[in-house]
Parts: sequence; structure tokens; C-alpha cells
Amino acid sequence: MSEDCIFCRIIAGQAPSERIYEDARVFAMLDIMPAAEGHLLIVPKRHCADIFDADPEDIAQIGRVSVTLAKALERTLGAEGLGVYQLNRAAAGQTVFHYHTHLIPRWAGAEPRLHGRERASGEALAALGARLREALTGIAH
Ligand code: 5GP
Ligand code: ZN
Repeated sequence: MSEDCIFCRIIAGQAPSERIYEDARVFAMLDIMPAAEGHLLIVPKRHCADIFDADPEDIAQIGRVSVTLAKALERTLGAEGLGVYQLNRAAAGQTVFHYHTHLIPRWAGAEPRLHGRERASGEALAALGARLREALTGIAH
């Protein structure tokens, strides 16, 4: 755990998040500043800054979990498409230096932004989180 890392603090339960899924290796939550409704982040529980210091097994598990979460987003929100993005270091646009993969639902005609412009309300995130967790119970993983 890195004390000054917001994602480590969230995983440790020391900061709030709308948690959607967790297992021994990874943790998934709604992004607080969504680029589109349903924007999820999947992060390894063990701190690493980016792909250059990541454990390949953590990255493999993020890949597996992304398949399940993609289905939950499709079922819950009727997403027409899904962007899977992962940025490494400031030069690539990374802003939180704990490895994470973005899952961003997409609809035809909407601008495919990577970062949101405003913070989502806690109520909206909680309501969506409940729907996504419910959808996950019906998806094999
Ligand atoms: P990056 O640019 O590093 O790939 O993306 C970082 C993402 O983390 C952004 O989409 C940003 O909105 C999100 N984010 C930053 N701080 C928090 C936080 O405290 N909680 C959650 N859930 N998301 C965060
Ligand atoms: Zn961290």
C-alpha cells in the first residue's frame, strides 16, 4: 500500500468508492468523474504505478474481469460499444499513478472522451452501482 495513493486508500477502505467487484487480486469501482455513464475502473489491489512495474498476473486478472464487467455494462445500460483504455505515465495522459484500466460504455454519436468534465453525484453513482452489482450476479465469472 502506498499511503499517498488515492486508489490504495480506497482499496484499504480508508476512502469512499462505489465498489462494483472485488477478488483477491483486483478491485473495480465507478469512476467519480465519468467520461460516460457507467465508466468503470479496474485496479490491481497491490500498488503498482503503471505497466512498467505491474505484475503480469494482475494484468491478466484485470483482462478476465473486464469481460464480465463489459457484459454487466451492456445489460444494465444498453451500451452500444465499450472502450477499454489504459494509460501509462503522464506522457500518455495518466493522472492517477496506480495502474488502472478504464471501461467506458459508448453510444453512437457521442464524443468518445477519455476523461469526464464533472463529478457525478454520490446518489447517481450509488443507484447505478446497485444495478451493476445486481447484473453481475447473473453473469458467470
Ligand atoms: P487516468 O487519467 O490516470 O487514466 O485516469 C484516472 C481516472 O481516475 C480518471 O478517470 C478520474 O476521474 C478517476 N479518479 C480520480 N480520483 C478518483 C477517486 O478518488 N475515485 C474514483 N472512483 N475515481 C477517481
Ligand atoms: Zn496505489
